[in-house]
Amino acid sequence: MFATLPTWTVERVDLLKAHFAAGLSCRQIAAEIGVSRNAVIGKLSRLGLTREKSGDEFRPRKPRERRGRPVPRLQYEMLRQVYDETAFTDTPVISEQRCSLFELSKERCRWPVNSENEAFAFCGNPPLAGLPYCTGHTRLAYRSLARRAG
Ligand SMILES: [Zn+2]
Repeated sequence: MFATLPTWTVERVDLLKAHFAAGLSCRQIAAEIGVSRNAVIGKLSRLGLTREKSGDEFRPRKPRERRGRPVPRLQYEMLRQVYDETAFTDTPVISEQRCSLFELSKERCRWPVNSENEAFAFCGNPPLAGLPYCTGHTRLAYRSLARRAG
């Protein structure tokens, strides 16, 4: 059994490929070539030319949804790294060099520490490079961030 006329002449196939490459939808290609949309879809699949979803319209991929994070990514990654390294040493943080607000500097952990003797003090331990807290307090900071991020 032969169909009366072949739908897909060489010229039409070339057009089909060209339009497909140009990003036209199946419906648009069909209108351009003068065949049915189903014929376009069928021919494309036979040629192995498929898009992500072999549907109608050409849809550009959605960019990944960005998760709202409360801290800059780099810092978050650093915190996570520290947390991973120290996750199994769940010892309380000892702040031996507590200092006041006015004594804080880049060389001192600025985690607030409540104590009975002092009204208000900061940890004062040497902080990790690039972070405002010492190892133990970085871990605590990460925990609270992780909770917030859900
Ligand atoms: Zn600290």
